[in-house]
Amino acid sequence: MTTVLPTVTPSAQTRVSKRHLLDLTDADLAEWMKQQGQPKFRVGQVWSWVFQRRADSFQMMSNLPAALRQRLEEDFVIFQADEAACQTSSDGTEKLLVRLSGGGEVECVLLRDGIRRSICVSSQVGCAMGCVFCASGLDGVERNLTRGEILEQMLRLQSRLPEDERLSHIVMMGMGEPLANLNNVLAALDVAKAEKGLGISPRRITISTVGLPPAIDRLAAADVPFNLAVSLHAPNEALRNELVPVNRKVGMDAVLQAADRYFAANGRRLTFEYVLLGGVNDDETCARQLVKLLKSRNVMLNVIPYNPVAGLPYLEPTKTAIAKFRQILEQGGVTVKFRQRKGGEIDAACGQLRRNRQTAG
Ligand code: SAH
Repeated sequence: MTTVLPTVTPSAQTRVSKRHLLDLTDADLAEWMKQQGQPKFRVGQVWSWVFQRRADSFQMMSNLPAALRQRLEEDFVIFQADEAACQTSSDGTEKLLVRLSGGGEVECVLLRDGIRRSICVSSQVGCAMGCVFCASGLDGVERNLTRGEILEQMLRLQSRLPEDERLSHIVMMGMGEPLANLNNVLAALDVAKAEKGLGISPRRITISTVGLPPAIDRLAAADVPFNLAVSLHAPNEALRNELVPVNRKVGMDAVLQAADRYFAANGRRLTFEYVLLGGVNDDETCARQLVKLLKSRNVMLNVIPYNPVAGLPYLEPTKTAIAKFRQILEQGGVTVKFRQRKGGEIDAACGQLRRNRQTAG
């Protein structure tokens, strides 16, 4: 008789049978504490260890009774995923590829810029929006991330900072379409902005969307001053239909009107993102059309030079095209920021680390 070794390691097996602590709300953990005959303040103690003191094990939680720490460890894990890869760039950018226990891999990034410590977080495994130049959506969407999986990315990136540094900004610009997973994204951001969570002001949190009007309205109704960034990428319907296929169903007017309603509802200046693709959407006509579209709106246009993706036919814009584009927008009175590319040497564009590892083996 031959013995077949389990393909799942014992530690991974136990992890699967335990609940992800980061999926629990305050009320869930309070209920669990009650079942253990524990006072309610233990809930705050646990969160304080996890979010502020960066605990990665229950045994570290020295102000909890040893028996309670034991019980917590029997029922929960704090970190559920594995780090499949990590890349560090000379400009201080760190990118993690996280292998989720529920299946799939996602990317998240820590960016250091002056005193800013920003993180870029994923909301889905893959993406269903199909933007033709983006690596994340090449294989469609597998699933939504849970609240805990979104929070775990934030905590893993926070733990890479020295103790005296704090996360200052969050952008939901990793893999996936955050507004297609709005409930879990909002649940995670609720913890990110809470004083007893990560304590990051919602004014320093940006949700980036391809532009899904009903979900933009739901976000406006949530009445939290998050920044909204809309990925426009084209100044007219025909080109946007080509580059952002979901636009065929939605239409650019509907996207712009929803963005206007968001601005009217919470007064936060909108950001529009525009990936500059060499020879595709970077000519003078595009720049002039953009001026027409945006000059009457209180918006910031974030222009991002394309970060080429292996296997896709799109090119970086030339320096001359960038300069001309910028000049037309500035002369047209549009507030524009040309995003400096960070982490270019480490596959830092959306979905590229995952993609390159898949294609490499
Ligand atoms: N689905 C959301 C958020 C994820 S992508 C959205 O569409 O906004 C975050 C931003 O990165 C989007 O503007 C996206 O178009 C852009 N992006 C994707 N791939 C890129 C690449 N290779 N180079 C530059 N920007 C890219």
